[in-house]
Amino acid sequence: MTSPHRELSGEELFAAAREVRDLHHGTRITFSPKVFIPLTMLCRDRCGYCTFAQPPARLQSPYLSSEEVLAIARAGAAAGCHEALFTLGERPELRYPVAADWLDRQGHATTLDLLAEMAQLVLDETGLLPHSNAGALYEDELSALRRVAPSQGMMVESLRTDLDCHRGAPDKEPARRLETLEAAGRLAIPFTTGILVGIGEDREDRVVALEAIAASHRRHGHVQEVIVQNFLPKPGTAMHSATPCPEDVYLEAIALARLILPPDVHLQAPPNLSDDFGPLLDAGIDDWGGVSPVTADHVNPERPWPDLDRLRKVTEARGFTLAPRLTAYPEYVRDHARWIHEDLRFQVMDRSDSEGMGRDDPGAVFPEEIEMVTASDGAEVRQVGHRSTAWYSGSPISPPTLVPATVAARGHLREVLDGVLDGQQAGRDELLALFVARGPEVAAVAEVADELRRRAVGDTVTWVANRNINYTNVCTYKCRFCGFSKGPLSLNLRGTPYLLEMDEIAARAADAARMGATEVCLQGGIHPDFDGNYYIDVTRAVRDAVPDIHVHGFTALEVTEGARRLGESLADYLRRARDAGLRSLPGTAAEILDDDVRAELCPDKINSEEWLEAHRTAHGVGIASNITIMFGSIERPEHWVRHLLRCRDLQEETGGFTEFVGLPFVHMASPIYLQRKARRGPTFRENLLMHAVARVAYHGLIDNIQASWVKIGFDGVRQLLQSGVNDLGGTLMDENISRAAGAQHGQQVRQEDLEGLVAPLGRTLEQRTTLYGRVEPGHRLTVLREDDGRTLIPLVNA
Ligand code: SF4
Repeated sequence: MTSPHRELSGEELFAAAREVRDLHHGTRITFSPKVFIPLTMLCRDRCGYCTFAQPPARLQSPYLSSEEVLAIARAGAAAGCHEALFTLGERPELRYPVAADWLDRQGHATTLDLLAEMAQLVLDETGLLPHSNAGALYEDELSALRRVAPSQGMMVESLRTDLDCHRGAPDKEPARRLETLEAAGRLAIPFTTGILVGIGEDREDRVVALEAIAASHRRHGHVQEVIVQNFLPKPGTAMHSATPCPEDVYLEAIALARLILPPDVHLQAPPNLSDDFGPLLDAGIDDWGGVSPVTADHVNPERPWPDLDRLRKVTEARGFTLAPRLTAYPEYVRDHARWIHEDLRFQVMDRSDSEGMGRDDPGAVFPEEIEMVTASDGAEVRQVGHRSTAWYSGSPISPPTLVPATVAARGHLREVLDGVLDGQQAGRDELLALFVARGPEVAAVAEVADELRRRAVGDTVTWVANRNINYTNVCTYKCRFCGFSKGPLSLNLRGTPYLLEMDEIAARAADAARMGATEVCLQGGIHPDFDGNYYIDVTRAVRDAVPDIHVHGFTALEVTEGARRLGESLADYLRRARDAGLRSLPGTAAEILDDDVRAELCPDKINSEEWLEAHRTAHGVGIASNITIMFGSIERPEHWVRHLLRCRDLQEETGGFTEFVGLPFVHMASPIYLQRKARRGPTFRENLLMHAVARVAYHGLIDNIQASWVKIGFDGVRQLLQSGVNDLGGTLMDENISRAAGAQHGQQVRQEDLEGLVAPLGRTLEQRTTLYGRVEPGHRLTVLREDDGRTLIPLVNA
């Protein structure tokens, strides 16, 4: 296919390129935080522009040792990189006996065998995702590397057969390179390729090369990115005195690439090869390629990487956001069954966020090793081996500061935020745009959510004094995220099974009331021996001990199961529970209200419609409830949107939801994570956005957005309070469910802890009832049960 754009030039060309980029890639400019591992600098080719390839006499060893490879990779992982880019010359063993001998001594037939082994080593030891750049390969070679590298690459460079610079380079024969590109497509390898500009080719040659790449992508869909790289002469090369690629020629080539390539192909230009790299954005790129905080650009060692702060400033100055990606682009990560070898899927997932981008919390992400420790009431986890330093939910690590921060948003996001402030209700597309905000856009979303919070509830931050009573950890269900109930034996998750006696439950409720609690929250596993009346009996036992305590209990699953086991209608069952004293249902068991996601997360649990129906029925009989979402395991932002909207529809129908509670997935002891089938929870940015976007979605319908300090920690919650959150939930004595999944934020806070959290923000703390009534200071419930003398810590200041 011939490009209709080949006749365009000048500003018309650039404007057209920018329009395509903006339409298909929005305001996001990506980069890959990586280390370069120059496995061998020997090469059988002699390209006229290359300083990477060296003769054996200049090298201490033909190849890096495994220790050297690992040292580079470990430094990269510790610095927060996601990718290990293996750069190497082409088949040096065919030219240099010293290379062949070295490989032979190490037990490798070829450089590519060594590469595969080193890629596996890096993957296992550091979790960095290898990208191999091994030149023109045959199909079986590409296939072997597909097992150890989620993406591969090879520059086409040029399809001209008569370039002087390629005279001594048998692997630069265009037909071979095109065949490599085709083979990668047949093998479904996310592939990086590109052209070199200024090595003796002309505009028409560049167009021809780009059209060939475009055609290959149209056949296979595998060209994830095209690099347009400018030639710069380097001392010591055959082309040392050649003219560098003129800037106007280079920028024109980038714009042509943007217009000739299918719009889904990402377009990259390296920032270190242009003194002023901002204009590369004006020509239509959407990616800066690999940028390393640790290693030099071994192909262009004289051109250091710009530091990330400078890259961010230049990017944001032009109205874009900078976002880290993995070596495979998100489209390929999301469709991993097709594009990523099954041996690599978990490692890719482990570094990815909900969009399939690189996790963007600063710090190291090492493969996790844990051991299980049996506690009295469930299993706990202990981390061993290399420690990640990037934040995750449930960890004691402080999150990055996302707010307060510079605020900026343009384009569609700006329109959405302005519309929200003007009172428009955000729909599916608008909420999705908010969920994928990056950089200063995140603070812009938070700012609008904060304003909506102010309009809805003012500056008061509320909390409830409550006690969790998890009456049993025995459960017949097999929710794959749940580390609280007994998990499969193979995962060694079985803590000691327990079932609290009715008397113990009543005693705990009485203790809670003496300490100042106004609520007990009753949740547990679905014990096989329960008949449906168990929940009603528990409610009665609690209310007999403390008649005025608010019983907030039993998930949609528990009440649905209770009614089913009795053969009673859910409405009749809930009426009896209400009459026994049940006042509200927690919104847990919602997880993600999408049946495809539930089929993976909790296949035997109630489905989305049953969860909604349980809440609809509860609201119908006068039992209030809340909305929860457990996010950050396997689902995508579009599932979050669906979840929020399904609950919003129900709220418009019944008005029975009192609050929204974001529950970030705590991965550490979760069976689905231990089975290598889930991400390691949401990133902090996703956490913040979940609460901010919920504030936007429910504006005018639900006033209260609650953050879970158990899972997010005080440092994180402080930022969420500036992003739409107005409620801190409960004091939660004896919170076992998050702890069983690996959360490390303790089991209880007291009023003064919450005051210390809220006061620096200039906000007022106020104790509330479960249903957001006011609790007068010093208020205590009547307890109709003798004090059995346990040592108690007051929840509420006297
Ligand atoms: S989440 Fe609830 S229903 Fe699912 S396994 Fe855990 S305790 Fe059982």
